[in-house]
Amino acid sequence: MEVQCVTFVRIFHDESYKSILGYTVYSSQMRMDNTDAKILQMLQSDGRLSFREIAKKTGVSTPTVSARVKTLEEQGVIRGYSADIDPLAINETISVLTVECKPKDLESVSELLSKQENVREVIVLSGSRVVARLTFEHEGRLDVFLNWLEKVEQIDSYNIDRAVRIVKKEPDAIVSEGIQVVIPCYECRKLIREQPVRIKLDGRMHYLCCESCLKLYKERYERIKKGISPSKSKAGH
Ligand SMILES: [Zn+2]
Repeated sequence: MEVQCVTFVRIFHDESYKSILGYTVYSSQMRMDNTDAKILQMLQSDGRLSFREIAKKTGVSTPTVSARVKTLEEQGVIRGYSADIDPLAINETISVLTVECKPKDLESVSELLSKQENVREVIVLSGSRVVARLTFEHEGRLDVFLNWLEKVEQIDSYNIDRAVRIVKKEPDAIVSEGIQVVIPCYECRKLIREQPVRIKLDGRMHYLCCESCLKLYKERYERIKKGISPSKSKAGH
């Protein structure tokens, strides 16, 4: 069966949809409107707020809040909900590590660092440098970590500094209206910079970068659902 080529109407904010093979395919700009931005701001400052409380504060209905949050979770904009525990309040120490290595070793070094429990955040910088934020439960853990670090051959040099105090700690994202949501295509994994093609399968929204990916993805999805192994040939676009 052939999927028809559909040209999607590019509408800012508004949503268009077409039916392909009995599926409703949506297409819309992935821009955050005021409601999304307000919901995110509220949840970012208090992840325990109920949908009802958010609805009251934003002036939209509780089902609207619920649907918006579900979408933001599916898009990976909301990564999760967790308690923000102050490491200093439980007598832990925080350090910042800067590592220099050869460009070819950047990936393996950041991967090795990421596997360490004491490493809480890893950021790859330009110029073959990696910065990591570390937390240590006690001095003994720091010694163990430094022993391990010394043995990582790919590291050319490093610098580790203990934090004296933390003056400011805010969530990473600054949420404002009109921000574009950038998510990877479910088929080719490329970041969708343009208008995504969305398809609802089994009650869940799936995001694709173009109609070719939509076709491939839908075929793959149906094969997996039917329990048939994926075909060996993989067409690109
Ligand atoms: Zn794609």
